[in-house]
Amino acid sequence: MTETAEATVDQLEVGLPWQHNFAGLGPAFYTELQPTPLPAPYAVCVNRLLAEELGLSTDMLATTAAVEAFTGSRPIEGARSLASVYSGHQFGVWAGQLGDGRAILLGELQTAAGPQEFQLKGSGRTPYSRMGDGRAVLRSSIREFLGSEAMQGLGIPTTRALMVTGSDAPVRREEVESASVVTRVAPSFIRFGHFEHFSAREQYGELRKLADYVIDRFYPECRATAKFAGNAYAALLEQVTERTAAMVAQWQAVGFCHGVMNTDNMSILGLTIDYGPFQFLDAFDPGHICNHSDEQGRYAYNKQPNVAYWNLFCLGQALLPLIGEQEHALAALESYKTVFPRELEARMRAKLGLPDAQPGDRELIESILKLLAQDKVDYTIFWRRLSQYVAGTTVEPVRDLFLDREAFDFWGKLYSQRLEGAGRAEAAALMLKTNPKYVLRNHLGELAIRQAKLKDYSEVEALLMLVQSPFDEHPAHEDKAGFPPDWASHIEISCSS
Ligand code: AMP
Ligand code: MG
Repeated sequence: MTETAEATVDQLEVGLPWQHNFAGLGPAFYTELQPTPLPAPYAVCVNRLLAEELGLSTDMLATTAAVEAFTGSRPIEGARSLASVYSGHQFGVWAGQLGDGRAILLGELQTAAGPQEFQLKGSGRTPYSRMGDGRAVLRSSIREFLGSEAMQGLGIPTTRALMVTGSDAPVRREEVESASVVTRVAPSFIRFGHFEHFSAREQYGELRKLADYVIDRFYPECRATAKFAGNAYAALLEQVTERTAAMVAQWQAVGFCHGVMNTDNMSILGLTIDYGPFQFLDAFDPGHICNHSDEQGRYAYNKQPNVAYWNLFCLGQALLPLIGEQEHALAALESYKTVFPRELEARMRAKLGLPDAQPGDRELIESILKLLAQDKVDYTIFWRRLSQYVAGTTVEPVRDLFLDREAFDFWGKLYSQRLEGAGRAEAAALMLKTNPKYVLRNHLGELAIRQAKLKDYSEVEALLMLVQSPFDEHPAHEDKAGFPPDWASHIEISCSS
């Protein structure tokens, strides 16, 4: 062990300066408990980029002490671990009490990236585990780790993942798999479901305390609002509505399907949270359902914008006892109808290299999406090839993606005319940093997971690097920017992970 590593182990053992702001809300909000240790944990992957952003030493994170600590197998000095209670609507139905069934919050650190909470996902049973075992398997932990970093790399608000650890302890799913823990990092893990919980139980004191906590810590501007007759809770609902609308617009533009948009999986900070059966689209299929358990297609790609609004409506309902006037709540939610289309159009325009809005842009966007859907064109490859075409390559690589080439040519003419006004070089520059070359396709994750099950984590490392710089060219990884193999469409990913 190097000198620095020893020093940093000491740092962990002497105690990082943990704070416990969430715990300060009081015992109605959580149960304090220790993680359940896993035997002989080992590091699977450390996110060096995030460690640097947080001002944490990667040497420290790679030590046995840190690996044990972030698996929940060694007590962390100064941490005050807890599982929080929340409720929620699952698949449109009130599910009552849920809670952190397999996630344990350690506390909060003041980092170089501001205050951040650290949570261990998969670290054992809690009072909210219901029938579950409190564990996560290696497969799902790697998906969460890479998925959240892919979203971050694309500039989409998300919880982060600092590291994945594993243990050979068996975990029973459809088959026996091995246990794993992800260290998640976010300013807060509070969900819509936390508000629904206290509202449904008519615990309005706790409801107010929670809302005040969220406003004071994350939305202080709500206190100074002149809107809604100065009603800070209505202002909070409006802010959350706007952030959620902007987040979902980004999902749609990049072709991300969340897969389980239950209200307990919606962050009060407008972060993408709880990566389960998510997927980045391969072919553009608006009705695509990525969650194998979602039989009705409630969370299909093209339903996400409406589902987010429905979820915000649940949040509004939960906040109503604090807001008082129903009109204020409705007015706050109304902002979704302007923010979502505005944000989506801005994102789609950027994909086309158009920095400013002009009449006719919406039709231009809608008509290309229609063509992409009709010919089931690969979504990521289309946008990247279009960017390269605008940057100066021939049109064939884009045109060849379509079965109906005449229809594409017709659209292409209109697009070229529109580009003349915008400036081609500027458009190309904007497109190449808006349209990723690399997204975390299901089959890429699957291949990395297969290797990881054999304890070879090099593919996880490679994918992490690619998704953290998805707009760059990586000639050594050209194969990972290509079309998915046929077997990719047969991968079945469900909630059970
Ligand atoms: P999800 O659909 O993953 O958001 O999970 C819904 C609820 O089930 C949450 O309360 C989770 O904490 C809980 N849960 C999911 N998987 C497990 C598990 N393996 N053990 C305990 N609780 C779980
Ligand atoms: Mg969840």
